[in-house]
Amino acid sequence: MENTRLNEFSKLSSDLAARAVKEFGSPIYIYDESLILKRCQECLDMPHAYGLTVRYAMKANPNRTLLKIITGAGLHLDASSLNEVLRAHMAGVPYEKIMLTTQEAYEGEDMALLEKLLLDGLKYNVCSLRQLYLIGDFACKNYIEPGIRIHPGVGSGESATRNTGDDYSCFGIHLSDLDEALKYAWGKWIKFKHVHVHIGSGADSEMWRQNIDLELGIIEKHFKETDSVCFGGGLKEARMPSEQSADIEHLGSYAKKQINAFYKKHKRKLKMEIEPGTYIAANSGYAVTMVIDKKCTARANFIVTDGGMELNSRPLLYGSKHPVYIVAADGSCVKSSEFGDIPGDYSAVVAGKCCESGDCQTLDMDGHATPRKMAEPDIGDIAIIGGTGAYCSSMAPFNYNSHTQAPEVLLTKNGDLRLIRKRQTLEQVLENEI
Ligand SMILES: *Cc1c(COP(=O)(O)O)cnc(C)c1O
Repeated sequence: MENTRLNEFSKLSSDLAARAVKEFGSPIYIYDESLILKRCQECLDMPHAYGLTVRYAMKANPNRTLLKIITGAGLHLDASSLNEVLRAHMAGVPYEKIMLTTQEAYEGEDMALLEKLLLDGLKYNVCSLRQLYLIGDFACKNYIEPGIRIHPGVGSGESATRNTGDDYSCFGIHLSDLDEALKYAWGKWIKFKHVHVHIGSGADSEMWRQNIDLELGIIEKHFKETDSVCFGGGLKEARMPSEQSADIEHLGSYAKKQINAFYKKHKRKLKMEIEPGTYIAANSGYAVTMVIDKKCTARANFIVTDGGMELNSRPLLYGSKHPVYIVAADGSCVKSSEFGDIPGDYSAVVAGKCCESGDCQTLDMDGHATPRKMAEPDIGDIAIIGGTGAYCSSMAPFNYNSHTQAPEVLLTKNGDLRLIRKRQTLEQVLENEI
């Protein structure tokens, strides 16, 4: 059998995809370990001046096996909830390698847990005045030095809902509250050694670069004791052939230059951190589905697959575009790939099986189903949605219509297919109902 790769950047081939469906059923997610490792290395190789820590934003995809692969490659973790911290620890990641940056504000048992974890080495960014006041006495008494997430008032994201830095969102302590935070911290002998900004997901690279200057300016003005700066995540990874990924080398070189200039002026060597989620995981993932029906309307052809918004809700949430691959049922060939030639003039909307007109992988920004050029599939062919390694399995409404959560399969760097999460059963969907 001819071994046909889906695209140039991944080891996934049509015969491997067909084999996975035969072995584990459909729909499934497949993750390409080699590509994850490559992206980890690219981030670790980012130019820097006085040290670099790369934290994988685990909310992108917190599967235990992926956490092991990624931390095994030398990355630390960014967690967005206490449960994520516990989950990472259960995957074997020591607390010292985890930074918690969260919207949660803890009291009672949760606060007691946070305090215990801080004593065990967990790192914590305060993200609001309230969070600061809640941890203040404990931090003071136990010599804990929390970091601080600043809300700079400007941000960037692929859509309005993923901009975390502008004044339409509330992540971090806004510049207008900074004096209050600093005054309180001063009174409690709390030093902010670490300053953090995350401007958004899928950020414009130029905005990401500008944030370097903005953040260094904030440190210069307000934080005399800071020795570590985090520029956040949001490094763009191109999912579609028409999109452009962030230039890590270029952004790193710029950060290095500016951190060096900061040293010349202030004689302080700032360590640097970044928190990529999307960049590490997005293109490693594939949602592998089967074509179960074909229909048409006066407007367009539709193919119906056995996995849609309950595997990947990004098109519905954001109007995000994901590449579509059509693979022969027996895996003998890739019939069409958006990274290669698309023969003929057939085009179709890719719909899922949920009772929801938005259950569609090819929506435009206004939520309209939009046909894509592709090879006309036969029923039983495999339709693969690319770019689904980040914010798909972790974020999809998987039990809608009582569908069960899809399994996850790892394509190992040795070329083996390994089940890393089983398919959910209907009993598991119902087990908490009383
Ligand atoms: C979500 C998040 C990230 C990762 O964003 P990506 O766009 O996936 O790189 C990084 N840092 C924080 C604080 C986040 O909330």
